[in-house]
This record gives sequence, structure tokens and C-alpha cells, in this order.
Amino acid sequence: MANAKYDDSLSMLFSPIKIRNMTVKNRLVMAPMGSFYSTLDGALRQEFKDLILARAKGGVGMIILGDAGFGFTSLEITVDSDFRDRMVKAARELVHEVHDYGVRIGVQLNHTGRQIDVPLRGYQLIGPSPIPWSKRVGVPKELTVDEIEQLIERYVDATERIKDAGFDFVDVKSCHGYLLSSFISPHSNCRKDQYGGDIKGRAGFTLEIIRRIRQKLQKDLLICCRFNGTDHVNGGLSLGESKKFASLLVEQGVDFLSVTAGVHGSYPVIISPYYVPQGCYLHLAEAIKRTVNVPVITVGRIKDPRMANEILESGKADMVAMARALLADPDLPVKAQRGAFDDIRYCIGCNEGCQDKIGGLETTCLVNPAAGREKEMAIETTANPKRIMVIGGGLAGMVLAKTASIRGHEVILYEEKDRLGGQWQLACIPPCKEEFADYLNYLIAQLKKLGVTLILGMKATPEIVKKESPDIAVIATGAIPLKPQLPGIERENVFTAWDVLSGSADSGDNVVVVGGNALGLETADFLATRGKNVEVAEALTHIGRDLGPTVRWHLRHRLAELGVAILTSTKVVEITHNGVQLVNAGDKSIYKHFETIVLAIGSVSRNELIDEVKGIVSEVYVIGDALSPRNALFAIREGAEIGRKI
Ligand code: SF4
Repeated sequence: MANAKYDDSLSMLFSPIKIRNMTVKNRLVMAPMGSFYSTLDGALRQEFKDLILARAKGGVGMIILGDAGFGFTSLEITVDSDFRDRMVKAARELVHEVHDYGVRIGVQLNHTGRQIDVPLRGYQLIGPSPIPWSKRVGVPKELTVDEIEQLIERYVDATERIKDAGFDFVDVKSCHGYLLSSFISPHSNCRKDQYGGDIKGRAGFTLEIIRRIRQKLQKDLLICCRFNGTDHVNGGLSLGESKKFASLLVEQGVDFLSVTAGVHGSYPVIISPYYVPQGCYLHLAEAIKRTVNVPVITVGRIKDPRMANEILESGKADMVAMARALLADPDLPVKAQRGAFDDIRYCIGCNEGCQDKIGGLETTCLVNPAAGREKEMAIETTANPKRIMVIGGGLAGMVLAKTASIRGHEVILYEEKDRLGGQWQLACIPPCKEEFADYLNYLIAQLKKLGVTLILGMKATPEIVKKESPDIAVIATGAIPLKPQLPGIERENVFTAWDVLSGSADSGDNVVVVGGNALGLETADFLATRGKNVEVAEALTHIGRDLGPTVRWHLRHRLAELGVAILTSTKVVEITHNGVQLVNAGDKSIYKHFETIVLAIGSVSRNELIDEVKGIVSEVYVIGDALSPRNALFAIREGAEIGRKI
């Protein structure tokens, strides 16, 4: 793993912990992740159950289901008693199955309050004060004291149902700017009554819920509270106040705490991509742990079990929660426990399949296309082993080769370069993207372990295909950079972004990157970090359209700090020996001097072999960029799906 510097012995991570009367077998927690897989019809979606059970089987010590309402629902949808009965029954079945793995499970109770991105018909935004979280959304209704009282009762009722379903604990969500968090934050609460003012007043809503849960359920259910160490917005909750809040929570009878950060106004840092260091909120948990005498969970870009163990050994937290790391590999705990670190498919912090949902897919994972589709994507041994020739060692080809090999096929992979990875090799190069190499290293290690025949540095020609005589051929030859028809395009001062990132081209000090897509912006970042003066010319009105919102936000900030100028609605119409002729939105023509012109305007499939191979092999598949240039998420998905089918 990139930059791994931790001790491989994980005795602390896999030691049990006692929280009041509950023993948890280890200190690895599956953090709550939205309610993407739950249903509001009273049942649980099978995909959701499969996802949870896979993580329970994978050896995590505790699971916290995210963002549930449990019969009062976080979206204020009224439900009848039949619904509630069905819901409790379905949840009880899940709890039993999770308990069978020796795993503790709780549910996070949440009300969205004033934070909902897409207005829902009939949904009333509510909050402590009439302050919207964004100009894009409506002004929330200021709750009256009577309404707060009713909501407190509904939280308590919901918690009773949580207890009836057999959960080990309830997690009262008071973070990320949702209802309770919006009361606690001075940024959103300017009330003058008992629920406003100092931290004791602003925390009153949460504290009263906890007091009444404890009063009603006595010691029958443990209580966790997840709250912000800081809101990460001007005028929001500070660490100083969150420490006071933590003490108040413990006084009220909370059994353990979970410390996170951020609200919707600071959305890109709540679930931070690779631009943010791993373990980004550990300092917050550490400060809270010094304040209280109950166990404290830390979370935030922790993906390496060795790092988790080191955190625990340092005494900065009592438990470590992972969310994306377990989406990426449900078996991370068991693999870590047996020291099989090379076998862990590490989260790379891209947010593409999960938080940012590139391509509008349901929550999944770039490196683990089976996340959220566990049953459908189970790998079954083939009854009819075949000889499969994979042409192209990029991600799509590697994933297919791995999958087919696990199934029992004989797989031989040809790659014309002398190393595997294809375009992914370049994806690892821009600043902060070193973690991308973890996935490549994982795939290479798995292919070697599986005994896939790897023939590197040799181009697969039709003659070689004939000689190999496979039953099935898979063409995964990727793509090549697109070069537009432009006067001057063949000049010596013109390179592709691939040339620059691979180190095969040396750019001058003044560079224009043509194309404001992910590749163009990352190449601009790469060059500007090396001290070049960089401008980006993008023909469309917006940059980074192929990036997810969290990554785009961080990258834009980086480029602004590096002084990279962004010209939108600007087309390059001619390239000369020392610059480019540009036309902007107002049809104004401008000439700008640049020593180097870097093209990042897309790619075209490399599929020249298809027809010839089809004439040799009866069953041929074309996958990844060779089929159509797209995001890696889709290339990996295709390799995984076809590998399961053939
Ligand atoms: Fe991690 Fe990316 Fe997978 Fe999300 S999509 S879990 S960030 S690897």
C-alpha cells in the first residue's frame, strides 16, 4: 500500500471492548452510510441486507445503519402501525442474522431538518431558525417549543421500536447539519428561547431526547451520539463548544460517542476525497476523548487497518469507524487479521461510486462493483472452464482476467507495454492521487496469485491470437488521445496530457491546457505544482463536468491557489509556434503566447483488432474504453460483469 508505514501486528484493533454491558469483539466499526439501500414500504431491500451481511461476515465488530427514521422517518412521511410492525419485523430478522456473525448492530436515528437537496413535494424544511443552509433551497420553518416537544416524543417512540427490533444501540445523529445538529450550531440557531443561546441551550433538544430515552428504556438499550467536532463553516460549532457538548451528553447518560465533522455548507469535507489527508478528523476525536470517560469512535478517511491499529495504540480513540473502506472491501477485517494486506482492495478516496455517484448509478464503489449488488455479483465457479485470451492490460482487462480466473477459466493476458495498468498508470500521477496505485497493486498481486499468464511488452497480433487459439477473446485495448483537426496541431510544441503525465514530454514554463475536463484540470494541477504558469481553455461554460462534486470542489480550490487561470467558453482555433489563437463566447479573437500546448480533449477507442479477431475466435467481447471511452468506473464494471458471465 502507498506510504504504508505501520506495524503489521493489529492486536489492538482486534481486541474486544466493553461498552457498559455490551462486549464488542473488535474495535472496527462500519460507519453509518445514508439510507441508500433502505426502503420506506416497511421492508428492507434485499440489496441492503446483502450489503450489511457481507460486512458482518467480513469480520467488522460493530455496524451502525445510517440515517434511519424508524417509523417517524427522517423525511416526515407518515406511516401507519402496520408499516411499523412490518418494519420492526424486517429489521429484527436482519439484526438476528448480523448477531449470528458475532457482530453488534445499532441504528442511527435522524431527521433531515432543513437540509434536503432536492425539494420534495409536501416536505416542510424545519430548523431552529429561519436560516436556509443554501440559497438554492427554501427557508426552513422555525420550530415552536410545542413542535420540538412533539419531535422529542417521536424520537423516543422510534427508539422503542429500535429496541423492539433487537438492535444493540441507538445512535442519535446530531451531526452534519441535520435537525439536531442545526440546533447545536450557532451558525443555524439564533433562537432566544431555551433551545438557543449558549451551548447548553442549543444542545437542549438533543440532550432532552437522550434524557427521555434513558428514562423510558432504562438500561435496555445503549445510546451513542454522533456529533460534529467542528462544522467547518464560519460561525459554526467549534471544537471548544463540541467538547462542552460531549460532557453534557455523558452527563445525560450517553454510553459512547462518535466524532465527525462538517455540515452541508461544508459538504466537500464531510466525505472527503483523496485531496484530504487520511485520518482527517482524528484530532477532533482525540480532543473529545480527553474530555470524557466513555468510549470515543473516530472516523474520516481511515482505510488502512494498520493506521487504525496505530490510532488505537496511541490512545487517541477507542474505536475506529470505516465506511468507504468497507464498501471497497467487505472482507477488510478478516484479511487484516490474518495479515493478508496485499489482498485488501483499498478504498482510493475517489468518491466516484459512492458519495459523488458518477453516471447516476446507485451507491456502489469504483474498485468494488459488487458493492450494493452482492448477490447479483457473487462469483461462481464455472462448470465449463475455457481458455480465455485477454488483449489489453488496463483496468477492464485486468478485472476481467481476475474474475474469470477465480471462476476456474484458464486466462492469458497480453499487454503491449511492459507493465500493466493502461491509463490508470497516468491516473496515479497527478498530485494527491498516489492512492490510485493501491488498486493497481492489488490487481497485479491478485493476477499473480491466481496464476493468470501475463505476457507483457508484446502486442497481440492476429497471428498470435491464432497461435494461442483461445475459446474466448476479450478485447480491452483501451483508447488513445483525441487530436482535433486544428491548424498547427502537428507542431513540436503540442503534446497530449498523456505525454506530459507519463514524462515523455517536457513542457515549457508557460503552458495552456486545452480542455477543462478531469484530465485537463489534473494535468494543469500537475504542471502548476511543478512551478509552470498554466492556463486552461475550455470550450464549454463549465469545467470539470466529468468530475464528481466533491473532487471538483477540491480540485478547483487547488487550481485557484496555484494561480491557474481558467478560460471557459473559449475555443482554440489555431496553434502557432509560440501560442494559440482563441475565440471566446463573445466571438472575440485573442492571441495568447504559450511555449507549450497540452491537449486534453478526450480519447478515441482503440479497436482495430476487433474484426480480425472475430474472424479467428468464435466468441469475442469488447470491453472498457476499447468499446467506448468512459470513466474507469464503467470499465471496471464491464470487466467484472463480463468476467462473471463467460
Ligand atoms: Fe472508496 Fe472510491 Fe469506492 Fe467510494 S467509490 S468507496 S471513494 S474507492
